[in-house]
Amino acid sequence: MSIEIRNVSKQFGNFRALDNVSLDIGSGELVALLGPSGCGKTTLLRIIAGLESGDAGSILFAGEDTTDVHVRERQVGFVFQHYALFRHMTVFDNVAFGLRMKPRGQRPSEAQIKSKVHELLGLVQLDWLADRFPAQLSGGQRQRIALARALAVEPKVLLLDEPFGALDAKVRKELRRWLRRLHDDLHVTSIFVTHDQEEALEVADRVVVMNKGRIEQIGTPQQVWEQPASPFVYGFLGDVNLFHGRAHEGELLVQGMRIDAPEHAAASDAKAFAYVRPHDLEVERYSPGATGIVAQLTRALVVGPIARLELTPHDTQDAKGDQIIEAQLTAEEFNARGFREGETLVVTPRRAKVFVDHGAGV
Ligand code: ATP
Repeated sequence: MSIEIRNVSKQFGNFRALDNVSLDIGSGELVALLGPSGCGKTTLLRIIAGLESGDAGSILFAGEDTTDVHVRERQVGFVFQHYALFRHMTVFDNVAFGLRMKPRGQRPSEAQIKSKVHELLGLVQLDWLADRFPAQLSGGQRQRIALARALAVEPKVLLLDEPFGALDAKVRKELRRWLRRLHDDLHVTSIFVTHDQEEALEVADRVVVMNKGRIEQIGTPQQVWEQPASPFVYGFLGDVNLFHGRAHEGELLVQGMRIDAPEHAAASDAKAFAYVRPHDLEVERYSPGATGIVAQLTRALVVGPIARLELTPHDTQDAKGDQIIEAQLTAEEFNARGFREGETLVVTPRRAKVFVDHGAGV
């Protein structure tokens, strides 16, 4: 079922939690709402579900306005961060709950319920736990059961609010791959709230990046990663260094470096910012006449295949006093170069990988 969100706003007292949000979700899509804490993700999800109403705007399911449709009639399944399983019921009874609550006439027979519950438990690969109680399950198992329970009533839309937020990193990783496979089998239109960019990029067909109640960008994981629409998106999706400088005749002059930026030729002498990811910085040993940012290697940390470097730039006109530059090399490259803490190095961005902006920064 397709979902259209049209100009939805929501105010809590003086605080604008959602500011004119519009978004179209195709039938069978898996969309992630991604953004920092407090940006309005959960509020938007609750409005789509019908648990909350917007002050303005509308939500359409398959082209029909849902404003007057009660939450129970919206055919929406939910999974929340804190698994809301009934503690006094077995796994089987938890999954059967929604089917047994159906009005007389629509309610399946106990034999049909049994077959459906086992089918769902098979789908989430936990049929062997049918007789256990929630307290006897791991966190990851509980979330899979919560999902089986949400799917039991065959929802047209599945809403997941940080479903793996309370789990440890390894289990989260397993479950997000599992969720993606499950979605590929079932094709239920799904909206998934997360503040974890890796999770959003790995799981979703499209990512909606939100900030302060607004949508900053909507795109495939590749689009938001490679063509961020704003400094906020660039900064939120991964680690980033910010360099201060100014535009000058098609170049950006940043801390002693010149970066080609023909699109900014018009804004000569205007203040500008260059954003560069740690792995897009080249690092060389200092030699006189080197062009780049001269900096001291203050810390080097090798973790598995990656070397993370912290560099403190030598004073230049534009450098901020407490600036730290983060660079990333492969451990192999780092060891081959033989860099030592305390050494003076030169840092240069790979030119094609610089994101230039004249705004207020991340
Ligand atoms: P998180 O990742 O922390 O859950 P979120 O992006 O889901 O954040 P929301 O829960 O949608 O954010 O909240 C958006 C803003 O609205 C927050 O600043 C929150 O404090 C505020 N807010 C949410 N619900 C209410 C409410 N019932 N009354 C007052 N303020 C609220």
